[in-house]
Amino acid sequence: MTNNNLLAAKAEIQRKAYLSALELVEEKIKAIRANTPNLPFEKTKLAEVEINKFFYEGKTVNRIMIVLRSNGCQHYKKNGGCSMCAHLNGSPLFEKITHQNYVEQWNSVLDGSFIENGKQDFNLNDYPVVCVYNLGSLLNTEEIQEKTIRYIFSTLNKYKGVKKVIIESRAEYVTDDILKAIKEEYDGVVEVGIGVESTNYEIRQLCHHKALEDTKILKDAVDTLHKYNMKALAYVNFKPIFLTESEAIKDATKTSIDCFNELGFDAVSIEPTSLQENSLANHLYNLGLYRVPWLWSLIDIIHGIYDVITDKKLDIRLGGYFDEEVLSGSQGTGFAGRNEIFPHMTSSNCSYCTNEFVNAIKKFNMTYDVKDLDSVEHCPHCYSLWQETKNIKDSRDIVTRIHDILEEDK
Ligand code: SF4
Ligand SMILES: [Zn+2]
Repeated sequence: MTNNNLLAAKAEIQRKAYLSALELVEEKIKAIRANTPNLPFEKTKLAEVEINKFFYEGKTVNRIMIVLRSNGCQHYKKNGGCSMCAHLNGSPLFEKITHQNYVEQWNSVLDGSFIENGKQDFNLNDYPVVCVYNLGSLLNTEEIQEKTIRYIFSTLNKYKGVKKVIIESRAEYVTDDILKAIKEEYDGVVEVGIGVESTNYEIRQLCHHKALEDTKILKDAVDTLHKYNMKALAYVNFKPIFLTESEAIKDATKTSIDCFNELGFDAVSIEPTSLQENSLANHLYNLGLYRVPWLWSLIDIIHGIYDVITDKKLDIRLGGYFDEEVLSGSQGTGFAGRNEIFPHMTSSNCSYCTNEFVNAIKKFNMTYDVKDLDSVEHCPHCYSLWQETKNIKDSRDIVTRIHDILEEDK
């Protein structure tokens, strides 16, 4: 065999191993999804409404997060979805949410009738930042019709106290048509959160199971948003399955830098993996094969980003940590039991210092100053354990790890 033939044969073997690893991940995710309960959701009631603080234009303001009971993410329905996500737990599995259902849900926000605890003086104008989420892609017209999007934005236009609307979508649905429709209805600031997760191909496709072949799709989405004067927010998942802690730190750091420098995002939200029922991440946690990321690691990531990007002020958020006031939740009050999409475990240190670190994160989210994280005292119970965890190495490549773990777990 010539050298070229040898290289081609090696590449073919690698390609086959990659494809079979991808198949293993997808099969496992689908098998876990099959256990998702078909809950009897009320189609005209919102899934969740929460209020928390948000840093906007140099000030701390009230933000309201409205989660529509929705048809759910198409990637999830078709391919099983991402490994760390189980948002479909919150969508009806067989019934469809219609335009009229969405309108009723949305009208309950406008007239305040969604509130369960008797807060009668609700006015959307009191919330400068409004998030409208649908547990999937709000810009995918197969999940939610264009006329529904138009209706929501046309009503928002009447609330001048609302300065910014944040929505979420996979990158491929960020198109001229739908952005034009929004622009025709709404003249305020719109920010679209897009799941990037990782700019590393193998990590994104195998560990996250993102089904996002090329980062060019992300770049195009950002450019299209900018064309319509909209903001692009990148979600970077920190510590997907199959990575060690130090690999995950490296990946989240590099991905965040790429989001700013290569892809042109205006903001990055780093999302440490949390655990929802019926996700592959949760399944591996139950088998003792996954631990949620350490909060200490966030210090390394933020320093890593600030060390490289020194010439501009960055909009970096640490996702998932807010003081929430729940105005409406579909399953009553109290954490995991409160809501079917609420994680039962989030990124943590040890029980002695996690709360203090979470408070530091909340501060950081107001200042973007890494000193707020640096100032957390090193915990005598877990700081050195975290440092040791960072020394753990895995000599196998990701494809081999997947074969080892998932073939064993068939
Ligand atoms: S993370 Fe987003 S794209 Fe992935 S399954 Fe969940 S909703 Fe769908
Ligand atoms: Zn500790």
